[in-house]
Amino acid sequence: MLHILTPVLLAGSCQLGSVATVDDARTIGRMGPRPVDERRYVDGKIHAEGKVFETWDRYRWHFKHRGIECSCGIIERGGVRMARFAENGFNADQLDCAGNFTSGGPAYDPEDAPLLVVDVVFHVIRTPEGLGHIDIADVQFAMERLNEDFRAIQGTLGQEGTDSRIEFRLAQFDPDGNPAFGIRYHDNADWFADPGFWVDVPAYTREIAWDPSRYLNVYTNDAGGGGTLGYASIPQYEDSPEPGSIGDRVVMSWDTIGANPPIGAPYDLNRTLTHEVGHWCGLWHVFTNINPGVCDADCQTSGDTICDTGRQTAPTRGCRDNFDCGTANSFRNYMDYSDDDCVSGFTPGQVGRMRCTLMNWRPDVFDPVNDVICNPSCPADLDLDGIVDGTDFGLFVAEWGPVGALGSCADLNGDGRVDGGDVGDFFSGWGVCATCPEGWSEDCVGQCFPDWLIEDWTGDGLCDDGAWVPADHGCEECPAFTPIYLDCTQLDLDGGDCPVP
Ligand SMILES: [Zn+2]
Repeated sequence: MLHILTPVLLAGSCQLGSVATVDDARTIGRMGPRPVDERRYVDGKIHAEGKVFETWDRYRWHFKHRGIECSCGIIERGGVRMARFAENGFNADQLDCAGNFTSGGPAYDPEDAPLLVVDVVFHVIRTPEGLGHIDIADVQFAMERLNEDFRAIQGTLGQEGTDSRIEFRLAQFDPDGNPAFGIRYHDNADWFADPGFWVDVPAYTREIAWDPSRYLNVYTNDAGGGGTLGYASIPQYEDSPEPGSIGDRVVMSWDTIGANPPIGAPYDLNRTLTHEVGHWCGLWHVFTNINPGVCDADCQTSGDTICDTGRQTAPTRGCRDNFDCGTANSFRNYMDYSDDDCVSGFTPGQVGRMRCTLMNWRPDVFDPVNDVICNPSCPADLDLDGIVDGTDFGLFVAEWGPVGALGSCADLNGDGRVDGGDVGDFFSGWGVCATCPEGWSEDCVGQCFPDWLIEDWTGDGLCDDGAWVPADHGCEECPAFTPIYLDCTQLDLDGGDCPVP
């Protein structure tokens, strides 16, 4: 028997139209050309529209999202939205990227600013039957795509965007500092059925969250169903959990993650993750209307509070500009609802708001990294090719003058300027680089290790009683080196006094 489900309407601006949801396999038959029973073939699998599904669950999951208007579970209610402030210790800089205002400004310009690296823990929640499983390689793939979009890496799908100098990496240490893997699997049917955006603290977050003030917690499950591809906490949104609190999160529908995610086109390029992490970094939708009158109001205090995203009142479907407000829309922006292969970037204004949000609303969630990489064993090798030559000299001259906030490898004497004082050091390194500095050799894992070590005979941590012993660079001995030996090494291994550490 077939029946047509009644349209379902959700609150807010998601604009659900005549949408059928699917609650069992039979209703799918209304959506396809053939009666449902013909879809299970002799191989026991379900064939539909060129795709093959192992189970009815997977089939349902695919079609559940088809034709559904609401792709992101963040439902913004109209009207003025007040910024949230910490109850204790109000941070005035939070005003630079408040709920209803974005200041912009050079403090949040990514150029010449540290890379902000966010540790991510990915909680893959499955049913006991295995629905919701995502391979490790697929999570890693999604993380790569996320970084391609946030860094606008050339040669990738994200290359058209703005480099935010915000990066995400799977956590390598758990909250207690123990080495750990940033992908966790949990089998729990209750947790798989997500309670949705409006529940501040889902039960699973109490059990499995890693301190959300220090990690981005991404949970994958059914994301609440109803066609929701994902949702996220927005720090400034009074209807989101407090930033850093236990329920602070990004939730993804599991079938949007991976190289060939089960959801299929047009949401198969992992751009839902980019979109939701954009929210987590403080962005509204480009079609959000903070205050009425979005088409003509002040761009810093209306719309999405971003001045370079244009004015827009409704989400984009597919990939076309509908010129509402009479001007071009941001339909290629990650924060619209356009298809995955349509969107191509964040704007500089959005990048500034995201960096402001991390710095002032999520101050403990990132490590600032100066990504100037120098060659420690061959300081003048500026292009890291193992030889100091004319190419390096060109780079050296190009850095001439005061050193910026990120430092410079060309500042060989470390005085904050690249000038005449560095020239002598540069030419003294001319030629092929030694692999390791003088007195050091490569150990079994290819790292430079001192040839001689001082042994601390009395074990008091002072190097005043030992003797020089030759270091063994053989593989068997490598792990045996103890920190106290390392404290007692120096580059000047001429038999002189060992400095007291
Ligand atoms: Zn959204």
